[in-house]
Formats: sequence, C-alpha cells, structure tokens
Amino acid sequence: VHSAAERVLAGLDPEQRSAVTAPAGPVCILAGAGTGKTRAVTSRIAHRALAGDISARHVLAVTFTARAAAEMRSRLAGLGVPGVQARTFHAAALRQVRYFAPRLLEGRAMPELLESKVRLVTLAAAKVGLRADRAAARDLAGEIEWAKSSLVEPAEYVVAAAKALRDTPHEPAKVAEVFAAYEKIKRGNGVIDFEDMLRAAVWGIEEHPDVAEQVRGQYRHFVVDEYQDVNPLQQRLLEAWLGGRDDLTVVGDASQTIYSFTGATSSYLVDFPRRHRGATVVRLVRDYRSTPQVVGLANAVISQARGAEARLRLELVGQRPPGPEPELRIFTDEPAEASAVAARCRALVDGGTPAREIAVLFRTNAQSEAYEKALTEAEVPYLVQGAERFFERPEVRQAMVALRAATRSIDGSRSGRGARRAELELSQGETPLRAAVVEALSAVGWAPDAAPAGGAARERWEALAALVQLAEEYAATPPASARSELASPAVASEGPALPLPIGSAAAVERLVTLTDFNDELARRAVQQHVPTVDGVTLASLHSAKGLEWDAVFLVGLAEGTLPTSYAKTPEQVEEERRLLYVGVTRAREWLWLSYAAARSPGGRARRPSRFLPQLDRSGGTERAGAARRTERRRTQVVSCRICGATLLAGADRKLGRCPTCPSDIDLELYERLREWRQRVAGAQKVPAYVIFTDATLT
Ligand code: ATP
Ligand code: MG
Repeated sequence: VHSAAERVLAGLDPEQRSAVTAPAGPVCILAGAGTGKTRAVTSRIAHRALAGDISARHVLAVTFTARAAAEMRSRLAGLGVPGVQARTFHAAALRQVRYFAPRLLEGRAMPELLESKVRLVTLAAAKVGLRADRAAARDLAGEIEWAKSSLVEPAEYVVAAAKALRDTPHEPAKVAEVFAAYEKIKRGNGVIDFEDMLRAAVWGIEEHPDVAEQVRGQYRHFVVDEYQDVNPLQQRLLEAWLGGRDDLTVVGDASQTIYSFTGATSSYLVDFPRRHRGATVVRLVRDYRSTPQVVGLANAVISQARGAEARLRLELVGQRPPGPEPELRIFTDEPAEASAVAARCRALVDGGTPAREIAVLFRTNAQSEAYEKALTEAEVPYLVQGAERFFERPEVRQAMVALRAATRSIDGSRSGRGARRAELELSQGETPLRAAVVEALSAVGWAPDAAPAGGAARERWEALAALVQLAEEYAATPPASARSELASPAVASEGPALPLPIGSAAAVERLVTLTDFNDELARRAVQQHVPTVDGVTLASLHSAKGLEWDAVFLVGLAEGTLPTSYAKTPEQVEEERRLLYVGVTRAREWLWLSYAAARSPGGRARRPSRFLPQLDRSGGTERAGAARRTERRRTQVVSCRICGATLLAGADRKLGRCPTCPSDIDLELYERLREWRQRVAGAQKVPAYVIFTDATLT
C-alpha cells in the first residue's frame, strides 16, 4: 500500500510534494496556469488514500465544470483511487437536496428547477412596468444571479450594487423591484432557480442537525479546485459542509478569475492563509504544460494586468523543450478565418494529431456556428462543449413542446383539422418530416423565410432553424428502427377496423417520423453532455478553464469580441484580459491567435483586440526573438487560393505550400491586403512574436 503512495510522489516536484504530504488541515496552493495545481491536489487525495490516512469515499472534490470534474475522477482512477466524488458545486448541492428532499419536504414534491431565469424575469419586469426584450431580460437575469450568488436580498440590492460598483442594467432601484417581483413570481409558480438550490443545500444543513450530521459524516476531506472563482453563496455552502472542520485543500490562480460577473471573487483564495492560521501555503512556478513560447506569451498577457492579484503573481517558468512559435493570423472576414482554422485542423489531423487534442476557443457561444460549419465542410469531427445548452434554450424547449403537441394533433387527425393539415402539400424537395416540423414551429411563431436581421430575435430564429436542419438531416438518414413496422396505417391507428379518412396515410407517415424525431431530440438533449466523439473541441473560453490541448486556436481576437463590447469598466476589461490568459495557457504545443478585420465579407472594419499590441516583444524566448527579427525582414505577403487565408509568410516557410491548408499559394491578394490594412487602424502594430508579420508592407 505504501509503495503505491510513494509512486504518487514520484511524478511531482518538491513544492508539489510538500502540498501532497502536508498534514491534515488547511492547505492552499496558489499558482499560475499549467503549474500542476490540479495534479498536486489529485495527488494529495490519492496519496492520503493509498497511505491509508483517509478513505476515498469521504472525500468531496469540488470544481467548476462537469468536464473538469470528470477529468479529476479519471486522473484519480489513473492513480489507483477510484470512487472519489468529484463534482461541481451545483451537482453536489443538487444531489444533496434530492437526497434529503423527501425528509425535509415531508412528502411534498421537490420543486422543479428553473433552467433559465429569463422568462420569469421578463414577466417580473412587466409587472413593475418595464418592457424588457430578450437581451434586456438576460441582463436583468444576470444581475439577479449576481445578487443571489453574492447573498444579496432584493431589499439590500441598491446598497450592495453601489458598493460593488455594478454596471447595472437599469437604475438600481428598478432592478431591485424586478428582483423582488421575480422572487415572488417564482415562489408563486412553485419553482426554484439554481441559487435557490444551493441555498436549500445550505439551509438543509444549517437548520437540520440530523441532516448536518449525515452530510458531515459523509464528507470529511474537502478539495476545491479553481477556488479563485468561488462566489459567496458557494463559499457559504462549503462552510456548511465543513461545519467548523478544516481538512480543506484549496487550489487556485487569482489571474484566472473569470466569473466575477456572477459574483465570484478571488478574495477567498487570496485571504485563505489569513483566515486559516497555520495553513500550509504552497506556491508553484514551473509550468509543465506549455512550451516556453506559449509560457512567454502567457507571461506577456498577464504582466499587463492590474488589480489586487498582481501582487501575488509569480512569473511562470517553462519546463518543456521549445516548440513552434505562436502565430497570429489576420483575415479579411470571419468565414475566411473559420475556413482557415478548419483547414489547419484538417492538416493537423492528417499529420497525426488526434482531433481530441485540438481546441478552438472563442469568447461567445455565438461564434461557434461558423466553426461548426467550416469543420463540417473540411470533414473534421468536432464536439461543441456545453452543446446541451442548446436544448436548454427556452425557445428550443418551447419548440419541443410544440413538436410533441403536433404529434398529438396529427394523431387525432383522422378527422377534422388535423386531416386537412396532413394533406398540406409538400414544397419541392421537402420531406414530410421537414414539413411537419416547419408547421409545428409555426405554432411558436417561426417561419422559414422570416429571419430577423439581427439581435436576440435573430438568435431565436437561428435556434429554431437549427431544429429544422436537424429534421432534414434526420429525414435523410432515418435510423433503422421500428419505423417501417409502425408506418403501416393498421398499427398506427390501433386496429384495422377504424375507417381511415382520405389523406390519413400521409398523416400516419408524419406521425411516425415526427414521433421518432421527437425521441431523437429527447435522446440528444439527454446525451449531449457525454462527449463520445473523438473530435476537435469547440468551446467558450469560460468552459475551457482547467483543460489543456496540444493545439489551441484562439479566434475572434477583435475589439468588441475580446474584450467584449459589454466590458466597459476597467474591472470588466481586466476580466477579459484574464480570459485571454486562460485561453493562451490551454495550449501545450501549438498556439494560433487570429482575428478577422470584418464580420462578413466587405463588412465594416473592426480593430484588432487591444490586448494584441501589448504582447509585442514579450513572447517567446530570447533566442526565438533573434530568429524572428531576421525572419521579419524577409517576410512576404501571400494569400492562399484554396483556403482564402490572407496571410504573411516568413521566409523560412516554403512558399510553395500554404501553411494554413496543404495547398499552393499565390501572391495575388497583395493589393487587396494593403488596401484593407489602411482601413484597419492599429494594424501597423502587429506584434513581433508573430511569425507571419508584415514588415514588407511598410
Ligand atoms: P490550470 O491553472 O490551467 O488549471 P494546473 O495548475 O491545474 O493548471 P495541471 O493541469 O495540474 O495544471 O498540470 C498541467 C500539466 O502539467 C498536466 O498535463 C500535468 O499532467 C502536467 N504536470 C503537472 N505537474 C507535473 C510534474 N511535476 N511533472 C510533469 N508534468 C507535470
Ligand atoms: Mg487545474
């Protein structure tokens, strides 16, 4: 047993070891990205369990995303310690609340969990005389989430928002009214939101000694990864679990706080040593994840940061052998950017990099679509992290209800209105399923040719269009299920004796395919969070936290996207910078940064992200810097005829090949590029770490 514990230590450096072997009690690991914090903390659990000091089933390891939790479980299983509970705060709280609900609710059903606040917030806003469209309702919902996560009640909101310098979506007093109305409507509907669920977990422990005893008997040793993003409500739950005990290891990096908009604060992490006298404090600086080039760039990003965490920051020291220089690519428009990324993914996969070792990371989920399309065209498999969210969107849920209602109405179609519907003519090339889906969606106000120009209405339209698209794909590849059997009118009408009205064969056909399709949707909605595909990960920067890939594409590095145009206060801009830092530090080997000068071809020019020029001269190692200088003198503007990438190639690249996609290149877009550069202010300051730079243009 002990030799297994020894083996856990073998893969660690001295500082990590000191964290792992620290005696029971508070431990705090404060360190930058890629320094092995998660490795140290999982090793600590494994070491203690293998040495027989603790039992794995008494450990609760909390982290922030389901994927990170899964990763932790698999690392622990790999170390020979299966069966540790590694969960997100939400998952752990939900489990606890469900478990104790029968006892605490005395037989009453557990209230339904509200997946999104937006609909009720819209109602609440209306109640207090505020007209809120979807975007406004979302802002208000975000503000309510912040308040609830910060343990702020409606009556306390105005003062608290002022103290926290919130950039409130309306005057604070109005927000407080909406907040109060939301709480009232929610209670009236007998539903609870995510924060209520965490509060219920706290309340269960604080108010019920028997529950407290049972929970605390189960959980005796605690670990919190990504502790810099804990919010006051989560902290309160953690303290309820602990109940005054202190066998707690926290791990975090204040430079990676990226959830302060929902109330997260790194102050719990930073103050941990002060609040826990005698805590073992460990600092790590060796970066095991990334090449020195990537580490250099990460240091450059974060060295510009201001804010409280800057005091604590230590420069990362890369441990890995040098690798390729990070690249910055500039494209004329987003479709060109996406297809170049897809082409490069294709080339990487063809060159032997497993697709699961590649990630495309973006600021907002709305950016995902262009990459999904481009990767599909390039025939590169991918998975969208957090795709299950699609099925959580209110309009999609509403549409699924409408689709189920449609099956019922077609089912009743052997007479009356339904029969008429079933006889609707199909337009050219339309499958019965598509027609049925389009018709069902008309019940929720969707029409195929009525795409709104932009904004929330457009997003909603697109989401429903995606359902129609799914229907098309589904109709094109019907699964070999019981369909053919069911398609017989005799079966579907429950017996041959019923006389079928004219047109009902079509109705039955629709019923069957629509029913199958609904099952398929339900299956997808349930299963999509299980990433089974070996594919390129498409993820938001927020959901990439704690994870790593060999090759990382950071796309859309334009002003307005990163930093987002919503970031107005200096604090909000700092959070955007930390997001970039999180993104850069996900790459092990190979890092690509890119932005498009316009959203669509010929569109209005945008500026590159303000963070890019700040990285000048700091990236990479000295030696690499010297290499870059010579290279820069010999760069040429080139453009690829195949993938359309407008780029500038260093002389060490073979000019016969496009470095983005494996095809020939030509110089014909030189003039176009020059013209475009003149439109984009600031592009002259393309930073020096870039391989593909534009010295020949000046
Ligand atoms: P983040 O802040 O991004 O969550 P982290 O500090 O948690 O990063 P880990 O994910 O634990 O870092 O480690 C980064 C990578 O370095 C992992 O691939 C891990 O296996 C590896 N690693 C960590 N410590 C060592 C070590 N002592 N020797 C070799 N590799 C290590
Ligand atoms: Mg980690």
